[in-house]
Amino acid sequence: MNMNRRDFVKAAGAATAIGMVGVPHLALGAGKKRVVIVGGGSGGATAARYIKLADDAVDVTIIEPNEYYYTCYMSNEVLGGDRSIDSIKFGYDKLKAMGIEVVRATAELVDPVAKVVKAGGRDYTFDRCVVAPGIELIYDEIEGYSEATSRKLPHAWNAGEQTRLLRARLEAMPDGGAVVITAPPNPFRCPPGPYERASQIAHYFKQHKPKSKVLILDAKQKFSKQGLFTQGWKALYGFGTDNAMIEWQPGPDAAVVKVDAAGMTAETSFGDEIKADVLNVIPPQRAGKIAQVSDLTDDYGWCPVDKKTFESTKHPGVHVIGDACIATKMPKSGYAANSQAKVCAAAIVAMLKGEEPGTPSYVNTCYSIIGKDWGVSVAAVYRLSEDGKTIAGVEGAGGLTPVDASSEARRREVQYAHSWFKNITADIFG
Ligand SMILES: Cc1cc2nc3c(=O)[nH]c(=O)nc-3n(C[C@H](O)[C@H](O)[C@H](O)COP(=O)(O)OP(=O)(O)OC[C@H]3O[C@@H](n4cnc5c(N)ncnc54)[C@H](O)[C@@H]3O)c2cc1C
Repeated sequence: MNMNRRDFVKAAGAATAIGMVGVPHLALGAGKKRVVIVGGGSGGATAARYIKLADDAVDVTIIEPNEYYYTCYMSNEVLGGDRSIDSIKFGYDKLKAMGIEVVRATAELVDPVAKVVKAGGRDYTFDRCVVAPGIELIYDEIEGYSEATSRKLPHAWNAGEQTRLLRARLEAMPDGGAVVITAPPNPFRCPPGPYERASQIAHYFKQHKPKSKVLILDAKQKFSKQGLFTQGWKALYGFGTDNAMIEWQPGPDAAVVKVDAAGMTAETSFGDEIKADVLNVIPPQRAGKIAQVSDLTDDYGWCPVDKKTFESTKHPGVHVIGDACIATKMPKSGYAANSQAKVCAAAIVAMLKGEEPGTPSYVNTCYSIIGKDWGVSVAAVYRLSEDGKTIAGVEGAGGLTPVDASSEARRREVQYAHSWFKNITADIFG
């Protein structure tokens, strides 16, 4: 397009004026449908990619404060010392190359009536919005714990800096020391996560600090893949013996209610005070803060959604996916967020065209690496119940690693886990 100097000055002036009065997100492609996605994590980035793949004509914007995303999946291997932190770091260049706009900002509010996301002093208008903020950690449910103390007592329940902090503490502690992991009540992000973490820390100790121990103080009485974990712990870490490297204490007595960062102690609801060299406090959780402030949550802090489209049952036009949403039988996992994002993306593209969304199915597999050549998994396929209210497991599809699996099968599960990681991160970030 040719533009003389006068036109250019006029256009530039107009753009400046628009910038100054903060007019909503410029309608560059008038008539184009616009989807704004809050959060560029497992759910949000997948949704962006799959909307674009399904219909390149839709304008897709991701609002995400971080330049890089660190996956929680495989972050336990970073703690165990078998993986570098850089191997779990992902950027947004490939999504940008697809024409997806990535804005580095924190969304402050989703206004479902005005159909606007407010972020970084600007308004981003949308036809449909996807909210995928992950979790908010409820620090104040444990006395003495806060965002500030989490630098000394890292949760590492968001990966990146917190993973680095926890790994540094493990490296610095003396041999013969104790790590205490406080496992949160249900529901929470990654049900097998605390137990895989205990395994990976014991794996590190076995090689470098063999006199050290991991103690899990749990708010719950049972946990995901418990039989498979305890089987692996017995074989690899002496679980249940006097020399056990991993010990597990069940709730409700072992639930940690108070921590002291100066004295490095954890107090249980039973009144026991336990001293640690490293305290890994994983607090209770709810949907990410933006979901709370935008009135997308229920009384328990999670977001109710239509299971067919992931559209909020509180605010039409806004969809919630990933950890933040209530997806009935699906666990809060990266794979579940990825699967929900695809269902949601297909539904949004259909709805923007005025079409009826199709009937979805969903999938999840969670691998846990218990130690050298010892992997286990749980897999499930889900479908929408007849009444549309539940995401229910399909009988006979999926299952657990058998307890009598051969050592070769367990070794392969580790390889499958690593291969899954490569595939899913390519599926999310391109
Ligand atoms: C130790 C550990 C191990 C795990 N292992 C596995 C595993 O093996 N397999 C598996 O499937 N899952 C695993 N998970 C779970 C998985 O990481 C989460 O379930 C998954 O990341 C959820 O995806 P999400 O999109 O809901 O949230 P996230 O991936 O956390 O993404 C949320 C994004 O939203 C952004 N955000 C938040 N608020 C705002 C805002 N106001 N404005 C803009 N952006 C915002 C955040 O910066 C973040 O990038 C593990 C978790 C942990 C802690």
